[in-house]
Amino acid sequence: MDKIITHIKRAHHILLASHSEPDGDAVSSILALGLAIGQLGKKTTIYNASPIPAVYRFLPSVERIVRHIKKANTYDVALVLDCGDLPRVGEASATISRIPLVINIDHHISNTGFGDLQLIDPLACSTAEIVYRLIKAMDVSIDKAMATSVYTGILTDTGSFRFSSTNRAAFAISQEMTELGVEPHAVAQHVYGTYSLGRIKLLNLALDSIEISENGKLSIMTVTGAMFAETGTHPEDVDGMINYARRIEDVKVAALIHEQKNGKTYSNGQGHYHVSLRSDGSVDVAAIAGSFGGGGHTSAAGFQIETSLKKLKSDIITLAQNL
Ligand code: 5GP
Ligand code: MN
Repeated sequence: MDKIITHIKRAHHILLASHSEPDGDAVSSILALGLAIGQLGKKTTIYNASPIPAVYRFLPSVERIVRHIKKANTYDVALVLDCGDLPRVGEASATISRIPLVINIDHHISNTGFGDLQLIDPLACSTAEIVYRLIKAMDVSIDKAMATSVYTGILTDTGSFRFSSTNRAAFAISQEMTELGVEPHAVAQHVYGTYSLGRIKLLNLALDSIEISENGKLSIMTVTGAMFAETGTHPEDVDGMINYARRIEDVKVAALIHEQKNGKTYSNGQGHYHVSLRSDGSVDVAAIAGSFGGGGHTSAAGFQIETSLKKLKSDIITLAQNL
């Protein structure tokens, strides 16, 4: 940690990046740390390859997140947050790998250890928890804007303090953030309170798509490009839907397949898919995701794959035999 802080304090222009198709932790971590480093008088660029989901657009300074970066030599340090591997950053990953110093800050058990320096804690409830510790160690006082992001990262990555990632720090830090002015009800209204009509309609299609393995231990939910088109929604709108598939009685592992765009369009047949995996805690889905080239945590993981939907579903259903 000290070494990382020395490099941050020595740098002129720092790039902060997190994984594409960001969740609450990925958005919050780059914002909180970006604001804190800004307090040190450093120039910062805050990057994410994907559009920021509507529910996180209330976060202070969210408009500072850019979708393109300049040449590698523009920056002297890159802070890569909430990414188990560097390609998770998306489009800019090749450029980032050429930035003189790449620092990997994460809480995924499957983290590959990429970069020149690492700050990885698989016991942290969220990357936001690690960011909180880093800000404290940098001696920056946390203002309401930073606190809002830290709190939102913890809230969303612990599934509102329900997932197995929920630890003592989740509550302790959240208490401190509320003392700094965060209003839990206001955050909850933004994050969980309102959905577009399209998202509700998409949920209906997603629920209807659920299939169960013969032994009842595995469920698959499928959201296709056609469903996004029909409801006027986007891949970010599937966030959270997998929990319905996981809550089904006797289900140990749930999979949510959602189609991604190949370039600008969805393709029929051979497509590009993201698969989210969740377990009831008794099965290590990070290992399953790893066998498909992805990663994550013991009870929440994922991977991307180019294949046909039919083959993907049958490969996933086969996993049920070992449950
Ligand atoms: P989600 O299913 O919500 O996209 O992701 C669940 C967890 O799995 C997150 O911690 C996320 O970082 C990880 N994950 C999801 N997709 C991928 C992937 O394609 N590669 C890797 N390494 N991790 C992933
Ligand atoms: Mn995270």
